[in-house]
Parts: sequence; structure tokens; C-alpha cells
Amino acid sequence: MNIDDKVGKTLQELGMTDAAGVVALFAEVRTAMESEREALVARGASSDPVRDQLCKALRDRWLARKSGLVSLIDENWLKMAMKELKPVVGRQFNQLRQLASCMETEALARDVQVRRDAVVQVRGLQLEASAGSVNVEVTLPGLRRPLGSIHPVIRVQREIEDIFLGLGFKIETGPEIESVYYNFDALNIPETHSSRDDWDTIYVDSKTLLRTHTSPVQIRAMERYVREGSQGGLYIITPGKCYRNDNPDATHSPMFHQMEGLAIDTDITFADLKGTLDFFAKKFFGEKTRTSFHPTFFPFTEPSGEVAVSCHVCDGQGCRTCKESGWIELMGCGMVHPQVLKNGGIDPERYSGWAFGLGIDRFTMARYGINDIQLFFQGDVRFLEQF
Ligand SMILES: [Zn+2]
Repeated sequence: MNIDDKVGKTLQELGMTDAAGVVALFAEVRTAMESEREALVARGASSDPVRDQLCKALRDRWLARKSGLVSLIDENWLKMAMKELKPVVGRQFNQLRQLASCMETEALARDVQVRRDAVVQVRGLQLEASAGSVNVEVTLPGLRRPLGSIHPVIRVQREIEDIFLGLGFKIETGPEIESVYYNFDALNIPETHSSRDDWDTIYVDSKTLLRTHTSPVQIRAMERYVREGSQGGLYIITPGKCYRNDNPDATHSPMFHQMEGLAIDTDITFADLKGTLDFFAKKFFGEKTRTSFHPTFFPFTEPSGEVAVSCHVCDGQGCRTCKESGWIELMGCGMVHPQVLKNGGIDPERYSGWAFGLGIDRFTMARYGINDIQLFFQGDVRFLEQF
């Protein structure tokens, strides 16, 4: 008598009078269920529709509400059980029902593979896999390469670029492997300055390094401006990668992204700098954004300032993003030091200029509320997919 016959009878008709017999009977049912499942998984299917069909058929055999084997066991074994066997039948039945969840169509479909050596059925045409012949699975989908998306840092970089391009700035880039002269000397950073230390800078040799900021591009741009005898002002932004000898942590990365802005013309004042950065902050963070300038020191600008923007999350009320201060410090800026203009070949008597520098990664963290810079560079698709 097979399982199908047995579930059609009551336990009494099967001659079950004790608990041990019931337990053995349910074990037989579980074995049958598992071996039917394994048989389908081993068989595979020739296409997605065929797989779904096979899985549904097996599911219905066991789990259909009226005539499924589990329902029949409920009707004929559990409900009809003699009083003294009811508890053990009930326990065994509950166990079986839990186990039977692996017979749901979706659960089966996950394990049944679509394979080209399975029997192929296409519009009534059946091709049996046979030794020596090449099997062509005409319903097998082609290989798909998953499409990526633009990295969040690059997305924000482009957004910032767009704002300054709209103001008439041009994008200027320079080498990431830079000379000590362009990275430090030309920018008025003296030999004694701590940023020139081995601990802070990654040197290639004594005269070459991985640039620690995008500022060298300013000098290169000035030199070209002079060389080409350009007229009018010099208005550039300089997005790119920079490197420092930093240990990776939540706010530091040995590789990071910076963007500087430089405006040089015959009548540039600090008011132009404030106006431009205020306009930029409102464009990037929203019209309600306010900016605040605090004096600081940089070797390559005089006077120098730090720019904070009112927190775009709490509008200055204080929240987690702004560490309860209402402000987020995002940029350094200042009027280009006359010596730096001279180093770039520009006459400081006639020209003046301003510059700013910002961390694109930090802007991206502020924009998306990300608190760990490492997430940008770990290449975890689950993180990157969100942008
Ligand atoms: Zn805030």
C-alpha cells in the first residue's frame, strides 16, 4: 500500500492502535514527501515556465486545500483518530505541516534549476537529451550583465560642477602624481610646514608625491593662462582625487576627492567670494541655506576663512547631522596670497583672486546622511545600489 492509498483510510482501518505505530506512519509520510521533492530538484526543468508548472503540480499534490495529501491526513487520520491516539497524531501532524512549507511553489522553484540538459519542450516539440548530440535550449535567456549606476561621490561631484559651470567656471584637471614644487613650494607651504612630513604625505621619491590636494592645479592653470596670453579673468574648478598618509577610519581615507575653485581677475574682492559660495550653498543644499565665514589660516590665502552652512536637516535648530550646533563646516577659502599669484606668473599689483577647497566625499556624506567615508570605497553593491 503506498502513501496515496494510506491517506485515503482512517488509522483504525490501517490497524494503528498505538503511538509507536503512528510515529512510524508519519515518518513514512515525511520520507515520501522528501524523496518526491528531491526527485524534482535532481530532474531540473528545461525552462522557467516548465519549472513553475512542475513545482506547482508537486505543491498541489501535497498542499492543495481539498485533495492535497496533507489535507487528507488531516481529514482521515487526525479528525477520525481515537481519543487516546489524538494527542500523538496531533503532534505528528503539526510537525508534518511545518515541514510541508518547503513544498510551496516558490520554495520549490528556488531549488529547481533550469538546465539545458533537461527535456526541452517548445510548442509541443520535444527534444530528448541524448548522448553525442548537441542540446540547444532555445528558451534559455541570454547572459545579462547587470547595469551599474553612477557612484554617489561622482554624482555629487557632477552636481557641484554643474552649479559652477552655470556661473561660467571651467573644469581644469591636473596630474595625481605631482612634484613637491607644485604641491607645496608654489603654494607658499614652507619646508617646515607639518603637512610636508612623511607622516602626512605619500612620497614617490624626494621630489615627487601623490598630490595631497587639488591646489597644484591652480598654479598650473595660472601658468597656462599667462603662457597663452589669455584675456579676461581665470575662473576654474578642479575636481579630482587626492592622497594622504591617513589610516582609514569613519572620516579619513588615504584616497579622497576634492574640488577647488579659483577666480582671478582685475577687480576681485572678498565680497565676490562670499557671494559666490553663498549662491553655491543655496543651490546645493536648498534656498533656505545660510553661510557663515570664520577667519582661519592657510599658507596660500590671505585672509583665509572657513565656511559653515546652516544644517540642511534641522535648518539650524541642532540635530545629529550637525552635532547639535546647527552648522556644518564644509569648506576652506580665502583671497589668493600675492606670493602664490607671483608663483603662477601673475602680477599681484594688477590682479587679485579668491579660492576655495572642499571635500567632495564630505559633501556626499552630508547630502545622503552617511556617517562612514569607508562605505564609498568598499565596493559593496548593497550600499551602492541605493543611489
Ligand atoms: Zn542639524
